[in-house]
Amino acid sequence: MTCDRLVCANCAGPVSEGRCHVCRAHRERMQRETPFAHLTPSALLALFVALMALAAVALLAERVATA
Ligand SMILES: [Zn+2]
Repeated sequence: MTCDRLVCANCAGPVSEGRCHVCRAHRERMQRETPFAHLTPSALLALFVALMALAAVALLAERVATA
């Protein structure tokens, strides 16, 4: 979900370029509603790997604690 193809009603430019305050306000609202929209796929992958690593560490810690 991106706002790349949206055209601003105020400045008639692409909203993603943020040429005027209407563009920037819309872009900020989009990012607030979809906080991960501005993340690149590689950043999402890194986040996923980090979460998996955290889960593995939590599992290991649980095993050590119960052993
Ligand atoms: Zn604009």
